[in-house]
Amino acid sequence: MDPMLFASTNRQAPQVTLAEALLQGQAPDRGLYLPVAIPRFTREDFAALRDRPYPETASTVLKKFTLGTFPNDDLDAMCRRAYDFEVPLEQVDSRRHIMRLDRGPTASFKDFAGRMMGQMFGKLREKAANRLVILTATSGDTGSAVAQAFYRIPNIEVAVLFPPAEVSDRQRKQMTTLGENITPIAVEGKFDDCQALVKQAFADPALRGISLTSANSINIGRLLPQIVYYVYAAARLSEDGDPIIISVPSGNFGNMMGALLALRMGVPIEKIVIATNANDEVPAFFKTGLYKKIVPSRHCLSNAMNVGHPSNLARVLALYGGWMDETGTIRRMPDMNRLKEELWATSVNDEDTRRTIQSAWRENRLLLEPHGAAGWLGLQRYLDEKPDSSVSVSIETAHPAKFPEEIENLLGFSPETPPSLANVEQKQENYMKMPADYKAFQELILDRYGA
Ligand SMILES: *Cc1c(COP(=O)(O)O)cnc(C)c1O
Repeated sequence: MDPMLFASTNRQAPQVTLAEALLQGQAPDRGLYLPVAIPRFTREDFAALRDRPYPETASTVLKKFTLGTFPNDDLDAMCRRAYDFEVPLEQVDSRRHIMRLDRGPTASFKDFAGRMMGQMFGKLREKAANRLVILTATSGDTGSAVAQAFYRIPNIEVAVLFPPAEVSDRQRKQMTTLGENITPIAVEGKFDDCQALVKQAFADPALRGISLTSANSINIGRLLPQIVYYVYAAARLSEDGDPIIISVPSGNFGNMMGALLALRMGVPIEKIVIATNANDEVPAFFKTGLYKKIVPSRHCLSNAMNVGHPSNLARVLALYGGWMDETGTIRRMPDMNRLKEELWATSVNDEDTRRTIQSAWRENRLLLEPHGAAGWLGLQRYLDEKPDSSVSVSIETAHPAKFPEEIENLLGFSPETPPSLANVEQKQENYMKMPADYKAFQELILDRYGA
């Protein structure tokens, strides 16, 4: 069987296999990889998933993309290892549901992609002669998810650079209490300094002898695992193949891309509701057809969605026949009619986010944090416009315990901390400290990972 191929949204780079796309991250023409042809589910395929456990659903979905790269038995085992936590799908009332993607090791939905990427990179490097070194700069969430995901994966080393003044105690502890193949580095500076050091390292000829990669948010390996939970939800909620509505709180649009790929695979999805925070560049674009980045991005309560130019938007437009280049300029307009048939976008400000946290608790005893609340209100707004709608599910992307003060202020109690977050509190921390100076960073890399 021929392996699936992936093409760049900028169409100037050669098509590559999954293994190449994973290791490259961004395509050489600075576009983003997408599958050349999206595999489809037959009705029977899909119906068979109705009550399958999460790791099995993951394997069934991912197999369609990993054919020729990972043997099926390996993939089954990888999915079991990656997804050893709960995926609660809660009914709120007769038509509405919440899916909680917050039970992984760092209590955000980023664990779903991170954990699978860890498995995939580990498998690709299993027989390699040298180690692969992942360099990541983080302002908190991504670094802890990457560190937890790649922890103890053979032949992989992770160096995470973080600005100590900008990450929370808990975020730091999720990186610094692991040890082994995870090297956290506190850089005396800001997140931008960390990012600049990482960028310089990738371009440094003196480091050519070391296999470096970034595992960053635009990697196709972050996207494919995010298709799975939509298939999982639709298989359980769809009655006789009737389409469901999905609401996704969105920032960089990686999460909603998972839903869109599921839709294109033939999963019965009637509409994807996209809820942004006050960074409303995409809802405005859907309304007016004019795209304008928001620079700098607006600071909101749902801080993981503070994105003024979503990096996955180029992929979304490509799936509607459009072309957005790496500068964010639309070179060819997408088919806006088809886009609006499938997608519906709305912007939720902080005041409405807070009110939704209160009303969801008061009316339904539904505990939400700011990101999930934006998704929940987005769904309400869509249903208000289309009251006769289908069964729906809104995505909760983080655990409410990550926002204890906000929830305490709004609801008068503090959410219980899940074991994943509580466990790091007692553990011993270990990390390096470094000035924001490239020479020092280069020496550290050569010393730690050089031949
Ligand atoms: C990253 C993140 C989001 C946004 O997801 P995108 O894929 O960037 O749209 C939403 N909620 C939480 C908690 C996140 O960490």
